[in-house]
Amino acid sequence: MHYVSTRGGAAPRSFTDILLAGLAPDGGLYVPQVMPRFSAAELAHLRTLTYPQLAFEIVSRFAPEWDREDLRGCIERAYRASVFGEAAITPVRTLEPGLHLLRLSNGPTLAFKDVAMQLLGELFESLLKARGEGLNILGATSGDTGSAAEYAMRGKQGVQVFMLSPHGRMSPFQAAQMYSLQDPNIHNIAIRGVFDDCQDIVKAIGADAAFKAQHQIGTVNSINWARVAAQAVYYFSGWFATTTSNDQAVSFVVPSGNFGNVYAGWIAHQMGMPVRRFIVATNENDVLDEFFRTGRYRVRASAEVSQTSSPSMDISKSSNFERYIYDLVGADAGRLSALWSELDRSGQFDIAGTDLWQAVVRSRFVSVRTDHAGRLACIRAARDRYGVVIDPHTANAMAGAWRLREPGEPMLVLETALPAKFAETIEEALGEAPPRPAGFEHLEAAPQRVTVLDADADGVRRYIAAHTEPVATGMASVGAVQTAAARRQSAQFLVAKPGASQ
Ligand SMILES: *Cc1c(COP(=O)(O)O)cnc(C)c1O
Repeated sequence: MHYVSTRGGAAPRSFTDILLAGLAPDGGLYVPQVMPRFSAAELAHLRTLTYPQLAFEIVSRFAPEWDREDLRGCIERAYRASVFGEAAITPVRTLEPGLHLLRLSNGPTLAFKDVAMQLLGELFESLLKARGEGLNILGATSGDTGSAAEYAMRGKQGVQVFMLSPHGRMSPFQAAQMYSLQDPNIHNIAIRGVFDDCQDIVKAIGADAAFKAQHQIGTVNSINWARVAAQAVYYFSGWFATTTSNDQAVSFVVPSGNFGNVYAGWIAHQMGMPVRRFIVATNENDVLDEFFRTGRYRVRASAEVSQTSSPSMDISKSSNFERYIYDLVGADAGRLSALWSELDRSGQFDIAGTDLWQAVVRSRFVSVRTDHAGRLACIRAARDRYGVVIDPHTANAMAGAWRLREPGEPMLVLETALPAKFAETIEEALGEAPPRPAGFEHLEAAPQRVTVLDADADGVRRYIAAHTEPVATGMASVGAVQTAAARRQSAQFLVAKPGASQ
């Protein structure tokens, strides 16, 4: 099992090589050279498994070199009932016959990003320990990603998180969620500015190769393959929970932004899960809806991105979309690169009327777009029809399900966050505050730990430097310890036990 770049210009690498990497050196995204596929007998076996067992069967296919017992341990620690509220991890709630909510938001930060991030935390800790290395994760967040990363990495050996957020611009709930963490390896940095200022600082530091190497700076963005693999698991579990035999195909409706979530469903499909349709749900930032309706993929300028009441879907382009197109061009990296050169040059490409558009149609992807008024109406109607309160992201998908569902079509709507995170919109829709899960009642009253800095990359650099040990000094700390002994241990760790690879 090796990973290659969608642009064709990078040497094949292993899962452990790409786990801590971002983009491939040629600017592409890493994808498996050959997609693993389950046989009918294997699928029958998967149907009988618990969530952690199922996760092991899927993730181990993508990481055959990882020691199997170590991987099993990582997965069992990540997917505990005590962390996700129940043993099913991503339980299904049936709303009416054939229409189900796949509940992905019962992790520590009440959004679906926890599902992948909790596993990533375990994998990072294990790999860094084996290699005797450290990692300092630098990120910018306006909400869900940053908090999911912090809750996954808190207390993890060898990892520190430096998370930039716009000072005073997150909801009180989201700010409290992040800033109340007291773990010494978590650094909340509130920037006097807006989210774009935070992102610009991360980019500036990311472009500073010397600083990055010296301080072992990494990221955890949605293009990380381990996140995709971890998300494929709940598509299988949702399919198993709503069908009785493996020849029954279901449809998935997925609130989409960076295309990471729905792309994981596409991977589950490649691995053998039958699918009737994937319905990509967008908000007013409708890059993806435009593509699936017309064949034109047109990225937006930052100024064109509107701030909506489903903020985690407010994107200008969809990073994982490149992987999907790579699959549709039959892994032809030359053709993929030509499309992305066109995109870089003119901000768009158009495949209407081509064989590639036929491939899109055959892939069974369709889309819907919902606006603010549509979300509010949907939140009200879901409460009235089913007695459930859904969050504004999930509402984009629920509205799509009602609009597109065909008679007899079994459909799973993916719930990507709990309404408690978005109280303002819920109050606007329902005239009352959303329910709060147990344990979150007094969140805003907890003591907070945050450093406020100006929107200035140098100030952030100085903060990071003051809280990390530069690699060159070789000092023992969370920063970095690289010894020959650790390297040897790493080499042993990465050799799978006999019979373990597949
Ligand atoms: C991140 C996020 C999304 C979008 O998911 P993608 O994988 O980027 O498509 C949707 N809803 C919520 C609540 C999110 O946090």
